Amino acid sequence: MADTANTRAAELPHLRDSGLAKGDPIAPPLTMATIYHTPGDATGFAQYGRYDNPTWNAVEHMLAHLEGAPCVGFPSGMGAISAVFFALLKTGDRVLLPSDGYHATRALADRFLKPFGITCDVRPTSTFLDGGFDGYRLVFVETPSNPRLDICDITAVAEAVHKAGALLVADNTTMTPFGQRPLDHGADIVVAADTKAPNGHSDVLFGHVASRDAKVIAAVTDWRATAGGIPGPFEAWLVHRGLETLDVRFDRMCSSAEVIARRLQGHRAVSGLRYPGLESDPSHNLACVQMERFGFLVSFELASEEKAEDFINNCTLMQATTSFGGVHTTAERRSKRGDAVPPGFVRLSVGCEPVEELWKAIEASLDRIDG
Ligand SMILES: *Cc1c(COP(=O)(O)O)cnc(C)c1O
Repeated sequence: MADTANTRAAELPHLRDSGLAKGDPIAPPLTMATIYHTPGDATGFAQYGRYDNPTWNAVEHMLAHLEGAPCVGFPSGMGAISAVFFALLKTGDRVLLPSDGYHATRALADRFLKPFGITCDVRPTSTFLDGGFDGYRLVFVETPSNPRLDICDITAVAEAVHKAGALLVADNTTMTPFGQRPLDHGADIVVAADTKAPNGHSDVLFGHVASRDAKVIAAVTDWRATAGGIPGPFEAWLVHRGLETLDVRFDRMCSSAEVIARRLQGHRAVSGLRYPGLESDPSHNLACVQMERFGFLVSFELASEEKAEDFINNCTLMQATTSFGGVHTTAERRSKRGDAVPPGFVRLSVGCEPVEELWKAIEASLDRIDG
C-alpha cells in the first residue's frame, strides 16, 4: 500500500495483530515492572525498568508507524527536547531557535545550555531562512509556531541547514504526524509533545523523538537510560490508547477549525486572525505544500484584555485553560503566559464538539462582548 496518512491510519489499530498468539489480549498489556527474569546470559532481553519496558515499546511502535521513523518516548514534550539538546550538543556549539516558538524551549536553552558554553540565538519563524545557518550545530524550527501560527519552509530550511553542516530539528507538536511529517521534508529529527492531540484527553504528559538517523536514536536512547528521564508505563499505555483515535479526533478538529476560522473572519469583534487554511493568510501557500491539514489552532485578537477574558470565560463550550489539542475546545489569552503578543490575543484550540453547536456558542460569546 502507498504510504499515505489514510493507509497509516488504517494500519495503526492492526500493528499488534501479527505478534498475537491465540488467547492474547487485543489491547496491549500494561507492564508495571522494574526488573525482569534474566538467569544466565541476559543479553537480548529486557534488563531493568530504566532501560526497557514492553508498554513503551508498544506506544513507540505506533509512533514510529505514524512518523515513518524509529521513535523514543519521553515523560513530556520538554523531556524529548531536553534529550535532543543534551545528547547531541557539546561546549562550543551554536544553536538557533525560533523567537516565536514554545517559550519553555528558549528557557531551557537560556538557563541550561548557556552555562555549558553553548551559544543560543533566536530568529522569527516567518523570516527563518534570512541570515543562513553557517556556524550552527543544531537548528530548531517550530512550524506552525505556537502561538502566532507563522510558518517556515521546512524543505528550504533543511537544504540550507545541511549545506551548513548542521542538524535540523522540527517541533511538530501543533500538527501531529497526521497533519505534517517534517522528516519527509528533510528534517533530521522530530520532537513532539504527545501531551497535546496525540494523547488528546488532557490527562497525560508524554513526548517523543523521531529520526531516521540511527546515531540520533542511539544517542537519545542512551541519554534516557542514563539520565533517567523515562516515561511511566501507565502514561505510555494511555498514550497508546489515545493514538488509536487520533485520526478521527484530528480530522474532526481540523475540519471544524476550518469552518470556525472562516466564520471568525466575518465577525466584527475579531482582528488579526491567523489560520493557515485561510486563502488570505500569509502562511497559506506554503501550508498547502508542506502540511496535509491546516491544524486545529486558530489565533486572533480581541479589543482588550477584558474583552478577551470575557469571551473565553463566558463561552459555554470553551474551557479557559492553557495547552491545546484535547477533545474539549479550549482557549487562552497568551500574554498571560508571557508570549510577546497583545493583551487581547487569543489562542483557540478547536475540540471535538459538533461544529454548528460550537460555532453558535462562540458567536454568542463574541456578540456579548461586542454588544
Ligand atoms: C506543549 C509544548 C511543548 C512541551 O510539551 P510538554 O509535554 O508540556 O513538556 C513543546 N513544544 C510545543 C510546541 C508545545 O506546544
